[in-house]
Amino acid sequence: MSPELSKFDQDIDLLINEASLAGATEVRRLAPGDIVVEKQMAAYCREPGCPNYGQSLSCPPHVAGPAAFAALQARSRAALVVRIEVPSAVLFSEERREVMRLLHEIVAGIERSAIARGYTGSRAFAGGSCKDLFCFDHPECQVLSQNGPCRNPEAARPSMSGFGVNVARTLENAGFTEPDKTRPAVQGHEAASWVAGMVLII
Ligand code: SF4
Repeated sequence: MSPELSKFDQDIDLLINEASLAGATEVRRLAPGDIVVEKQMAAYCREPGCPNYGQSLSCPPHVAGPAAFAALQARSRAALVVRIEVPSAVLFSEERREVMRLLHEIVAGIERSAIARGYTGSRAFAGGSCKDLFCFDHPECQVLSQNGPCRNPEAARPSMSGFGVNVARTLENAGFTEPDKTRPAVQGHEAASWVAGMVLII
């Protein structure tokens, strides 16, 4: 590691390295101001609507939404954008939940590691609903239905969309060359898709 790097930069590099070892295809550092937040993105969860709307503590209307995200963004020192790339067919197969759960585990791991390094306000977010990914075989979210503890506190993290994050535009700002959801098949390579999450380092 370069001796010129600040302690903060060294910590960020370590977090990126840990996420890569945990299974992220790519992790990029982004200035917090480059995360695109739009009220309308969160509104889409309700209308036209997502089947997971209202189903868990981690989705609207049970999350604090774009205004709260903007407040966190303003306090952040950096953001890490995590992407897992998979063959497109995987996201239409029984393996989809496995990939999405890995994504949640990776961002939750970065959050834990950042907190342990002293960035105690750090917060992780990921694509997908934790109700669908972790509690699909339970009729209800235990937090909402029983005011009980989350069944998966070590992994389940809130949805980025519910906080108004425009994921495609944010990934573009992070320098990903394919912010759209798929890369078409080209000779010798099958079509690829990605799923993404994010950690605010605070
Ligand atoms: S109990 Fe299940 S649905 Fe509710 S917040 Fe935790 S992981 Fe999500």
